[in-house]
Amino acid sequence: MDKIKHKILVLSGKGGVGKSTVSSQLALYLSHIGKKVGLLDIDLCGPSIPKMLGVENKEVHKSSSGWIPVYRDETQNLGVISIQFLLDKSDTPVIWRGPKKNSMIKQFIEDVCWGELDYLIIDTPPGTSDEHISVTEALLKHNPDGAILVTTPQAVSVSDVRKEISFCKLLGLPIIGIVENMSGYVCPHCSECTNIFSSEGGKLLAEQTNIPFLGKLPIDPYLTACSEKGVNYFKEYPNSSTLSALKTFVETF
Ligand code: ADP
Repeated sequence: MDKIKHKILVLSGKGGVGKSTVSSQLALYLSHIGKKVGLLDIDLCGPSIPKMLGVENKEVHKSSSGWIPVYRDETQNLGVISIQFLLDKSDTPVIWRGPKKNSMIKQFIEDVCWGELDYLIIDTPPGTSDEHISVTEALLKHNPDGAILVTTPQAVSVSDVRKEISFCKLLGLPIIGIVENMSGYVCPHCSECTNIFSSEGGKLLAEQTNIPFLGKLPIDPYLTACSEKGVNYFKEYPNSSTLSALKTFVETF
């Protein structure tokens, strides 16, 4: 952990708001520009990072000094650790109570040989439960940068992110900022953005709570397709508005 410059948790109140998408695209973008990145998936019951990065059939190995991450390609710029790599079959469910989850997460934090990294990004399940308490407590020993909070613009998602803010404050985890995902729809034909859901919810929350607003990511069908296929969105669509939104928000921290 001490060889890792930046440690960032990605949190959201609800599932399906794009937390894994933001985590994986952030990791892909940073590794694409030459940074050394680790992506740790602690969504034990619904791990989607291996699929989103196109490494779901790979296996993780354990050496005498700990687990060796799965690398996406030969550059070894992007290493991944997920419970998915430890399951016998892709559809095996993880049905664990708190203590077992806690011990798994502790091992993920202490026993992975990441080597020197510029960024460790940690994707979490939705909410403020066992996984979140364990990872936050373990990370706080290693000086984390803090949490990125992901929300969609609607009030139902924003109100749950308020709980994440209280969680971070209670545990003493700094908040890097808020990302508003699925903020408008980008037409695949003309690239115009239409606000299908309400808009500005994440931005308003950031203003009300004095937390930095990192930016908006539109609903982009190409982004969905890339996440489905584990393809690097940035290589495929270097001129998309989603990429410029992501670049803007990466540059703010
Ligand atoms: P979470 O991790 O919060 O549960 P996911 O990242 O798995 O959410 O996203 C849920 C679904 O929505 C996925 O199929 C993902 O590809 C899609 N998705 C997320 N954000 C976007 C976006 N900005 N544009 C298009 N599809 C998106």
